[in-house]
Amino acid sequence: MSDTVIATHGLRKAYGAVTAVDGIDLDVRAGDVYGFLGANGSGKTTTVRMLLGLVLPTAGTVEVLGRPIPRAGREVLPRVGALIEGPAAYPHLSASANLSLMDAAGPGGARRGRGQRIAEVLDQVGLGGVGKRQVRGFSLGMRQRLGLAGALLRRPDLLVLDEPTNGLDPQGIHEIRTLLLDLNRTGTTVFLSSHLLAEIEQLATRVGVLDRGRVVLQDDLATLTAPTGATVVRTPDPARAVRELGDRVLSAEGDRLVVRGSEPAEVNAVLVGAGVPVSGLALDRPTLEDVVLAAAAGSGDRVAA
Ligand code: ATP
Repeated sequence: MSDTVIATHGLRKAYGAVTAVDGIDLDVRAGDVYGFLGANGSGKTTTVRMLLGLVLPTAGTVEVLGRPIPRAGREVLPRVGALIEGPAAYPHLSASANLSLMDAAGPGGARRGRGQRIAEVLDQVGLGGVGKRQVRGFSLGMRQRLGLAGALLRRPDLLVLDEPTNGLDPQGIHEIRTLLLDLNRTGTTVFLSSHLLAEIEQLATRVGVLDRGRVVLQDDLATLTAPTGATVVRTPDPARAVRELGDRVLSAEGDRLVVRGSEPAEVNAVLVGAGVPVSGLALDRPTLEDVVLAAAAGSGDRVAA
């Protein structure tokens, strides 16, 4: 069996003269936390809607969990939990009652144990204490958590989340991040869109970068940010360090030197042996931001995020 969870080929969506998504090939595998990164207006929401069969592509194909979308939607979508754009909820009903309606609306939900499952997902998203309260009084962050609880109800194999931390404070963002990583550890594949580089860098195992409707980068985060083969040295005496290391120094900026060689201990030994104090040592790695900027420049486009 293939471990591909989402595959799109030449996926395109045009709204009149505006091409929102311009021929993208996404490749999301079982066990990924796939971070779908792009600036506002780059086409993330349109893509997510096509993945869920809510918008029909102008061209190209979508497969989710090995089946074509929208054709096999009735079979596949019960296994997919989704949260897109500010979740809808009835304000005069409690959080629990809203979840009960969401559950009842879906196909084939077992009634037995429903109340218990609702209590479980409310706990999971940190709304355990307020399940009986009317949603009317909920903050944006609480509504976002309620939407996530709805997405979790059926223990999905795949979670598709469009900007899931929108409207959350730092504590809330941390909680959702922890929750998503826990779910991923227990086997849920997570696809999440975001315009925040740092968020994707902290969560994702695999990254796709969308820029004006095109994928300019798609790879494992570990590959994208793999060590460069150089060592970063920090020293209070950079001038002497440069003299000792000679043409091994690739760049020097303030107290930070990048030195050829992928063994920090060896670089340390050279410097300490020469009496040069060293205050920091690390393998040199590009940040996700470096990689995204380079990819956007390489594609001739503006910066993606
Ligand atoms: P954001 O983060 O701001 O939601 P996004 O990356 O999700 O942005 P989309 O919402 O997919 O981007 O929009 C991509 C482009 O398609 C934009 O130029 C938008 O104006 C256009 N677009 C999206 N939906 C429609 C629509 N229903 N009709 C016409 N144009 C649309």
